[in-house]
This record gives sequence, structure tokens and C-alpha cells, in this order.
Amino acid sequence: SDELKIAVGAMEIADKIVEQVMTKIDDVFMLPDETILNAKMIAEIVRIGYTRIPVYSESDRNNVTGLLFVKDLALLDPDDNFSVRTVCGYHQHPVKYVFNDTPLAVVLESFKKGDGHLAMVKKVHISETVEDPSYELVGLVTLEDIVEEILQAE
Ligand code: ATP
Ligand code: ATP
Repeated sequence: SDELKIAVGAMEIADKIVEQVMTKIDDVFMLPDETILNAKMIAEIVRIGYTRIPVYSESDRNNVTGLLFVKDLALLDPDDNFSVRTVCGYHQHPVKYVFNDTPLAVVLESFKKGDGHLAMVKKVHISETVEDPSYELVGLVTLEDIVEEILQAE
């Protein structure tokens, strides 16, 4: 039955980690912070259809510095030619991070109590030669990805 499937799905997320359900970084739609929000660009962002768009600085997709919400564009005058950086600086939506190996149940819990339903996923790289670990951005996960996992259990 559908009820049983949902119950099984809910139990199965206990064994899963973020990287199994996330959207991989190459498929994530992001914008450089110097993007100018003119009429053409706003139309393009709306057409692509995501509600929340990670924003990166210094041409480095690993360096996410903010989130642009499509609703932030509603009151924007395209003729002002504001940059994404300016709009993000005004709204300051916090960027949440989780590690690639975080259990889904833990992410679900943090989405439940937190302010946002989206997190960037990062992975630690430990090197034997360099003392500090480095971080690589590997994807993006939303509440929707976890709910889908619960509803789609076989
Ligand atoms: P909403 O449902 O609130 O309109 P949305 O459709 O933009 O938001 P979600 O419903 O949270 O996004 O997620 C739907 C799918 O899209 C998920 O698989 C999620 O990982 C993916 N996703 C969300 N934002 C992006 C983005 N900026 N680039 C690529 N994939 C994204
Ligand atoms: P998003 O999370 O994509 O920004 P949202 O916050 O508008 O969207 P949901 O997250 O889907 O909406 O729902 C949050 C809560 O707000 C739910 O309880 C939903 O029933 C309620 N809600 C959504 N839209 C409206 C609306 N137009 N009027 C009143 N309540 C709404």
C-alpha cells in the first residue's frame, strides 16, 4: 500500500547520507555575484525556475557567499542595473552548509528547526602534505530531495 511505502521510505532515510540525494554541483544553477540584474537577466532567472540560487564570488564556484531568492527580484527596477552582490547584501539570506556524509535524518531535523530548507553540501579533503583540510563544494540539498526519497521508496 502507499502508506506502507511511505513508512518504509521514512525508515530507509536512516541509512542514507546527503550525497545520495543531493543535486550535484555541476547541475546546480548558480550566479557570479557580479551579474547585473537587467531585464534580460531577470527574465532568464525566472525562466530557469529555481526559487533559490547560490551566489559565488571571485569567479570561484567553490566560494558561495550568498543566496539569491527569486522573490527578491519582485521589487527590483531592472533599469537600476543592480548587481547580484548588491541585492544579496541587502537581503542577507544565510547560507547553510552540511557535509556530504551527513545522515539524511540529521539534515531533515535541521531543516525542521532551521530557517531555510536548502543547504550547500561540502566535502573535506585531508592531505598529507598540507596541514589544513580543504573543502570542496559538491552539491546542494533541499527538503524536497529528502521528502522525495521518503515518498519514492520501493
Ligand atoms: P520551490 O519548490 O520552493 O519552488 P525549487 O523548485 O526551486 O523550490 P526545491 O523544490 O527545493 O527547489 O527542489 C527541487 C529540486 O531542485 C531538488 O532536487 C533540488 O536539489 C533542486 N534545486 C534547488 N535549487 C536548485 C538550483 N539553484 N540549481 C539546481 N538545482 C536546484
Ligand atoms: P517557499 O517555502 O517555497 O518560500 P512558502 O513559504 O510561500 O513557499 P510553503 O513553504 O509551501 O510556502 O508553506 C509554508 C506554510 O505557509 C504552509 O503552512 C502553507 O500552507 C502556508 N501558505 C503557503 N502559501 C500561503 C498563502 N498564500 N496564504 C496563506 N498561507 C500560505
